Amino acid sequence: MSVLELRSISKVYGRGAAEVQALRDVSLTVAAGEMAAVMGPSGSGKSTFLTIAGTLEEPTSGAVLVNGKDTVRMSGGAKSRLRRRTIGYVFQDFNLLPGLTAAENVSLPLELDGTSMGKAHQAALKVLEELGLSDQAHRFPDQLSGGERQRVAIARAVVGERMLLLADEPSGALDSANGEAVMQLIHTYCKRGTAAIVVTHDAQLASWADRVVFLRDGRIVDQTAAPVGPETLLEPSS
Ligand code: ADP
Repeated sequence: MSVLELRSISKVYGRGAAEVQALRDVSLTVAAGEMAAVMGPSGSGKSTFLTIAGTLEEPTSGAVLVNGKDTVRMSGGAKSRLRRRTIGYVFQDFNLLPGLTAAENVSLPLELDGTSMGKAHQAALKVLEELGLSDQAHRFPDQLSGGERQRVAIARAVVGERMLLLADEPSGALDSANGEAVMQLIHTYCKRGTAAIVVTHDAQLASWADRVVFLRDGRIVDQTAAPVGPETLLEPSS
């Protein structure tokens, strides 16, 4: 069963002389348990792709299906419920709330969705434990290292059994060891049945994914089942 299906997505920003075609006829299906990496030069459409996959923005044409449901036709309320319950987002700069502890940051999405504070806290502690962060649960973000902050952000993205994890350069602000650890963690979560799309410009980190999709000028120019090495990914496609 595919968790995410993008069918012939195109995205145009602006009009007339200012028009930019950010995505052109992009199709991608990601199944439960699958981790896909998206690579491409700056301006190739990676962020646009992730934003549309996460239903945060509408495509100009094409369909976005999450768990088989067409999101383009959903009401605003149904879409925000879907985002809260099914999709987790991880950003380069972690985006943790500084006034909340790690456990409070992780339980927040559940509380916002109506789960009682006690239950949300228990669920947060469980995920933090799975990610090796039990000792950090009561610390504030500024008392954590960069790697720990990103692991808390991943905990926040997966808490509540969400099915789709979308990460935009999750290792971008980390050193290589922590960057690898973050990708490994996303990989581990995928093997339990989550689907993930991770944007990265680092071919070494992309090799954690089951599949690498390469974007250029808004088009998918290459897809590899398992990356052979950085050189192959950067070769121009014919
Ligand atoms: P990447 O993430 O690969 O750097 P983006 O998806 O950010 O690429 O951008 C793809 C293209 O779309 C670029 O030419 C960018 O300038 C343009 N673009 C992105 N977002 C907007 C926007 N909100 N308004 C106008 N142009 C945009």
